Amino acid sequence: MIDMDVLADSVTGDPRPDFYYTSTAQQTEFKCSACNSYNDIRGKYGYCSSCGWRNSAEQQRVALEQIRSKLKSGDVSASVAVKQVVSEFDAAARDYVNQLISHVPMKESRVKQLEKILFHNIDNFEELLSKFFDISLLKGMAADRSFVNKMFCRRHVYEHDGGVATTRYVEKSGDTDIVEGDLIRETVNNAHKLIGCLNRMIATFETDFQEMFPPEEFCIEVEKERRERIGQRNA
Ligand SMILES: [Zn+2]
Repeated sequence: MIDMDVLADSVTGDPRPDFYYTSTAQQTEFKCSACNSYNDIRGKYGYCSSCGWRNSAEQQRVALEQIRSKLKSGDVSASVAVKQVVSEFDAAARDYVNQLISHVPMKESRVKQLEKILFHNIDNFEELLSKFFDISLLKGMAADRSFVNKMFCRRHVYEHDGGVATTRYVEKSGDTDIVEGDLIRETVNNAHKLIGCLNRMIATFETDFQEMFPPEEFCIEVEKERRERIGQRNA
């Protein structure tokens, strides 16, 4: 029998090719949110091996629900939660963008702009995504736009300025309750509201992305029928 650990340890230099990945399970196990198939992937984001649905939005929803419970139990402060949820959104949204770069033929100049897209900056990502793909993550959320912008600006302050409002914050956030030099006291309510907004935004990305890359309908139909059967049984 070949001992894969010994084999992999004998390979020097990083990164190791996928073949040498030694763990028995991969790094992320997930049930597909579209067809309920079990998947086991390296990394965090991937396609369902049955239907082709990308799991990035679902990964965000799971992560944000965990942060929401920690907020409720008081295990995480509101300002830390804001940093964490924006980071999850940034990573999931960027994953969809990386997939678009890989699978949609486009000019090099467009690739360059997409590689530099900023998911902490509403004006930046709304302009690029709508211009290139007719995708607006804030579709139907006009009333929340200024709130989301304010929270993105706050994330920057929590991350880089120790929570003390800078001139930049006062100019960009539209937050009239805060003046330069104030220590921003984040509220749990804001953090919860932000979670709702970010989940809605990533759901829009998910829907629009899968419209461009439709999943295998057969698997989703089978799952739909399964759910209906269970529903009837429990009725
Ligand atoms: Zn699936």
